[in-house]
Order: sequence, then C-alpha cells, then structure tokens
Amino acid sequence: MRSLVRVRGVVQGVGFRPFVHALAVRYGLAGLVGNDPGGVFIEAEGPVAAVSALVEDVRHRAPALAVVERVEVTPIAPTGTAGFHIVPSLPYGGGRTLVPPDAATCDACLAELNDPADRRYRYPFVNCTGCGPRYTIVTALPYDRPATTMAGFPLCPACRAEYEDPADRRFHAQPVCCPACGPVLSLVTPGGAAIPGDPVGAAAALLAAGGIVAIKGLGGYHLAADATDERAVATLRARKHRPHKPFALMLPDLTAVSLLCHLDLPAPLTSGDHRSGDGFRDSVAGVLTGPRRPIVLLPRRPGGGVAPSVAPSDDVLGVMLPYTPLHHLLTGEVGRPLVLTSGNVADEPIAHRDGDALARLGAVADAFLTHDRPIHVPADDSVVRVFRGTQVPVRRARGHAPEPITLPRPLPRPVLACGAELKSTFCLATDRHAFLSPHIGDLENYETLRAFTGGIEHFRRLFGIDPAVVAHDLHPEYLSTKYALGLPGVETVAVQHHHAHIASCLADNGETGPVVGIALDGTGYGPDGTIWGGELLVADLAGFRRAGHLEPVRMPGGVTAIRQPWRMAAAYLHTAYGPAADNDDGHSHGPTAGRHAPYGSAPVGGLGVVRRNAARWPAVAALLAAGPAAGAAAPLTSSAGRLFDAVSALLGLHDTVTYEGQAAMELERRADRTVRDGYPVSVTATAPAAGEDVLVIRGTDLVRGVVEDLGRGVQPAVIAARFHHGLAAAVVTAAARVAAGADLGTVALSGGVFGNMLLLGAVADGLARAGLRVLLHRRVPGNDGGVSLGQAAVAGALDARRGAVGRPPP
Ligand SMILES: [Zn+2]
Ligand SMILES: [Zn+2]
Repeated sequence: MRSLVRVRGVVQGVGFRPFVHALAVRYGLAGLVGNDPGGVFIEAEGPVAAVSALVEDVRHRAPALAVVERVEVTPIAPTGTAGFHIVPSLPYGGGRTLVPPDAATCDACLAELNDPADRRYRYPFVNCTGCGPRYTIVTALPYDRPATTMAGFPLCPACRAEYEDPADRRFHAQPVCCPACGPVLSLVTPGGAAIPGDPVGAAAALLAAGGIVAIKGLGGYHLAADATDERAVATLRARKHRPHKPFALMLPDLTAVSLLCHLDLPAPLTSGDHRSGDGFRDSVAGVLTGPRRPIVLLPRRPGGGVAPSVAPSDDVLGVMLPYTPLHHLLTGEVGRPLVLTSGNVADEPIAHRDGDALARLGAVADAFLTHDRPIHVPADDSVVRVFRGTQVPVRRARGHAPEPITLPRPLPRPVLACGAELKSTFCLATDRHAFLSPHIGDLENYETLRAFTGGIEHFRRLFGIDPAVVAHDLHPEYLSTKYALGLPGVETVAVQHHHAHIASCLADNGETGPVVGIALDGTGYGPDGTIWGGELLVADLAGFRRAGHLEPVRMPGGVTAIRQPWRMAAAYLHTAYGPAADNDDGHSHGPTAGRHAPYGSAPVGGLGVVRRNAARWPAVAALLAAGPAAGAAAPLTSSAGRLFDAVSALLGLHDTVTYEGQAAMELERRADRTVRDGYPVSVTATAPAAGEDVLVIRGTDLVRGVVEDLGRGVQPAVIAARFHHGLAAAVVTAAARVAAGADLGTVALSGGVFGNMLLLGAVADGLARAGLRVLLHRRVPGNDGGVSLGQAAVAGALDARRGAVGRPPP
C-alpha cells in the first residue's frame, strides 16, 4: 500500500526529514518526504504493517525539538518506484509553517566542543538539527539558510557535505558552520577596539579580576560578573540602576546548582487532594537541563557561596545552565558562578544589535564578548518556578517563543492582542494558533514601545497574519491601548484586564469555561472606573460577571502608592479603624491625623509604620479623610497586590520599593512555614440594585488581625503566615460560594499575585478540599505577560458571536 502522511506542528528545522528517511530505511519502505507550507508530507509505500510502524513513530517518537500537532494519513495509489528520497521543499505559497524556538546545545555538539580531535573543538558556534539558534536568527519564511542571519556565511565544503547528507546529524541544519566558514568570536573594548588574545580566556580573566563583561547570547546581550565578588556585583547594580531586584546566575552544571540551591521539591503545605494540572511533572533537574533551558527560581541553601548583592534579602535564586557553546566555554574557564543578567539599563528592553549594545551598555560593561552572527530579533531568558513538580512560567521568552499556544476554538478571523503595560507581550493569532511574543518589558518608555511595535511587524510578516480584529486593555492610558486604537482598518475590542487573565488561564488549559475565575494582581482598570485587582469573576471566553472582590480602599497618591507601600498601610488603617469603615460620608468622625492618636481609640498610634512616616503621614491622612473628594489623587482599589504592600509595610519590611511586587515577595519569604492558622476574614454580600449578589472579602479584617498581633508582640514571621492563610481561606470561601451559586465546578487562578507559592498552594488546596477542580497556568505566565493571550481568546470568542465585535464586553 502507499499512504500520504501529513504532519503538522513544529516539524521544520528540527531534523524531521532525516528522521523520516531513517525510519523508511529501517522499515524497508519506498517513497519520499518533503517540507511544504503546511508542515511535512510523506509518501510511504510498502507492507501495511511497515507503513503503520512508520506512522506510529512519527506520532510518538519525533525528534526532541519537534512538536507534532496533527498527523493525517490518506491512502493513495502505489507507484511501484523503489527507494526513499528527501525531495526539495515545495515553493512557499503564503502558508504557515512554525518556526522552532532556540534550543540549548545538545549533548552530541557538547561532546564535539570538548573533543580535541574534532574539527569544531572549542568552536563557540557548534550546532546541529537538534540544537542551536532558530527563532532569533530567522528573518523570513520559509526557514532556510538565506532567510536567516547565517546568510552571510557560505558553507565550506566539509559543512556543505554534512548539510546535504540525509544520514548526517547536520542535514539541513540551517545555522551549521565551523571555524573555516562560520562566525568569529571577539573581545572588544566599549569603544569597539579589539582586545588581543583568546577572547574567552581574556574575558574570563577580566571577570576574575572583578570586571563586568557584556556577552552576546542567543536572544540578546547579557551583563556578566563574578557572582562571588561582592564589589563586582555591587558595581554592576550601580551601573545598571537596579538597586534590589535579584540577578540571575549561570552555573556550569547541576552539581554547582545543588551546592547553592535545594534541588529537591519543598513538601506540600497540606496533604490536600490537589488536582490541578495533569501530567507535566518535570523534575527540577529536567527543567534545568532541558533544551529550553530557562532560569529556574529555586530555594537557596543557607550560607551559599555568592555575594550578598546577587539577591539581597532573598531566599530564592534564579539559576540557569549554559545554553550556548560560548556559555559552556566561558563557565568552564571561569570556574565559579556568574551573574548573567539581561543587557539593559533600568527597565529598557534587552540589547540585541551590536551597535546599539555598545552604545547602551558602554557605560556598564568593561568589555564586550561578541561575534559577527547577527541576532535578528531579541528574546530574553525565560523564567520558571517549579510548583509541586510542575513548571509555573514566570516569563515566557527564549526557548518557547514563537511556539504557538493551541487555542480551544478556532478564530473566525485573525486577531492581534496588544496586552497590558507591565511585563508586556503581544499575541498574534489565527485559526487555532496563538503566537505569543517573547517578553518585551514594561511598556512605559520609548525603547520598549519601539521593541513592541517592531515585534508586531516582524510577527505579521513572519507568520503572514493580517489581523482583522485588534484587542486591547480597557485602560485608556496604556501605550498598548493607544497603539491598538491608532491602527487603521481594523475592528477593536476592549477587554477588561482580569477577564483577560481568566481567559488566558482557560486558553492555557485548552478550555472555554464557564468557570469561577480568581484574578489576584496589582492593577487593572475596572469598568466602574476603580482599580481592580482582587477579583472573583464568573467568566467564559466571551464575557464575565464580577461576582466578588476585595473590599475597596483608597490608593493615596495614586500610582505613587505602588512605590510607597506605607501609603497603603495608611489607607488600610484608615478603612479598618476610621469611622469611614462603616460610614461612607467620610467626615462624621474623621480620624485625626498625627503621630500620637490616629484612628481614635484603636491600638494604632504606636505602630512602627506610623512613626517611621510621621512627617508624611498627615498629608496622606488628609487625602484619605477627603474620601471621594480626593478624586484621582486617591482612587479606590480592590487590588490584592496593594493589600500585600500594606501588610508588608505594617510589619516594617518595606515602606518603599524599587520594583513592583518587592514588598509582597518579602512578605512571602518571611512567612513561617510551620504556621497553618490564619486570621478570620468575613465575606459579606452586597445587594446591588439589580442583579446578583456581589461578595466582598474584608481585607480590613486581615489588617486588624495583623495590628492586634503586632500589639501582642507576635513575631512578624508568624503574622506573615497568618495573613497568607487568612487571605487564602477567605478567597476559597468566597469562590466556593460563587461556584455554588452559579452551579460551577471549576475554578481558574490567574494574576501576578499567584506568583506567591505560599498563597497559590493554600488556595489550590482549599479549593480542592471544597471539591472544586482547579486550573493553573502551565504554558504562559499568570502575570501580565499572559494577558495578551487572554485578550486574543476573548476577541475571538466575541468575533465568533457575530455582531458582538466593536461593542464593549458585557
Ligand atoms: Zn547539537
Ligand atoms: Zn564549515
């Protein structure tokens, strides 16, 4: 018999055709294999059992970097011709192939790198069909050498022979090269002058001497320093304008990781029947050594061997293993942990073009370890946590982009979703494929906006997708919203921020809802004009109803309160103890601001946060006393992030922060893991004029519990734990009530606050004990980096309901 086998997915540029060729030879089949715009096509002729065996292997034993999405088998007429051939790629006709993500150096290439007899011994660009650069060097499709940044490196005869031999590991490996024909490494000064000697050896010597070296990686430049040298790391912080946010480390191997971090998983918080996720259980070591090679956030061993400035006051370290041959050579030469952080200053996007890197990082780095293979598009390092054996993505970029997320339902028309503002990504989607951009950065400055718009143009060209529908956040001031509304000739759809979060979790799990969605994060624009961020929604992809939320408090000073958590402490104290808590007119017994007796008789005056901020307290108290009259100077918020900020300030952990989430992370870190009890929190129902009850979770009850424990001299670690468990229990109670009321059995968790593993564990366990099925993020981040996927899913669902597009969601 002869069968036509069509294979779809990530099947080009990953060694698929040689794999099929080898199978055909093994099973004694005749026929052909080739690439076309839809993927790979195979014609296999021979005995039925042999053809079936080939199809089985194609389905289940594909090469490591391949992702087989679909295999279709159709019988065709036998031709009787002998032999099995790899045929030329069919001319590209505007179809859609999937570009593979960049992959870490494979074991076979690593062995060559370390083999003095190999012609690629110590050659920093060794790669094959199983590894090396992909997405970051592709300039256009079809994925072929002339359409990569390797176009300027003609193959030498030896490399060409490998490239053309179907039996070779390098058959059609587009970036294949060697010292005779490929890119060349160099070490240069910030002025661009060559530094003589072996570039790797000289860079290692510079690092050992306390220098800072910019290193060109796969998706951009990194800044490196000796992680054991406090002076070097502190210098890097000062030059990069990054006072506190932890730096990632690159370590030579797993043994080095195990000396610094715990590789074994922390024990579950409770033995509850935790039913989230399915399969997907990667060991930490597996994640660290896999081809995607992300930064993995791991619990740090006490003591450790790295400088304090690497991760000030943090008990988690972000570590990764070498993923390019250059990294292997350098870490081998240096022999100690390296700080390896994105090559940027402050919050700008990662530098990836050589001239730009010299200009932007010239004042930070003492030297540049660089080369002449251009990076076409940037891709930062991906970051994951491991939660109970399952990967939880924190940042999705190199190693993942541009691999599509398969949508639960096909889209009627192509969609561009512009994301939010912080941790910006965009998503271009068509049919069932959602192409999520790699992490871009905080969309607050010109450089990031340029990276955002440039990235969208590149994706549009690369995947040949012309969006008809453009989704954006409800927030009118986001640059992403303004960009979307400025695009000509498209329909635009505004998607509420937390609806997008829940839709993102649904799409991530291949589901459509309806579910109870719990979205806990920092900031999102609410349709009622307040700032949302502690939300219970009854949602499906097309719409949502706000079924509950954290009790709103004011944000005195607006966005200033995000950088100054003590202001949120003031707001919560005001709401908890001021007369306004039960009386919204705001002036009946207005609390007297001052250092001695704020909030009447409450045990608040002696609090450290009041004393420490005494000079600025009265102005903030006045804003709070003004209530609604303060207007935009003190908007209402139901944000969970701001509640964490308030408690962090109350405990004296952080009155101010230099990055969002810093205070909340400290609170999580401090919590005593042996404490299981939580503060009681009331969940009350408000009855709106029309419609169903809306539940309010009284965050002020948590603040009262904290203040009372502080008054009793209870340890902050115990208070931090009781706060977490109290909040988790209240969220579970509220979600269970909403689920019962709406007759739903599934709860989806999303939002950046669920990056807190203590809270995530407690909420997931509580929901499971309540008999609810829990959906967690698995492939895209639950923070704002995943919002664009949710927006795309919502826009598609609305588009499917013809006529709904163009109107705001219900
Ligand atoms: Zn390889
Ligand atoms: Zn060569």
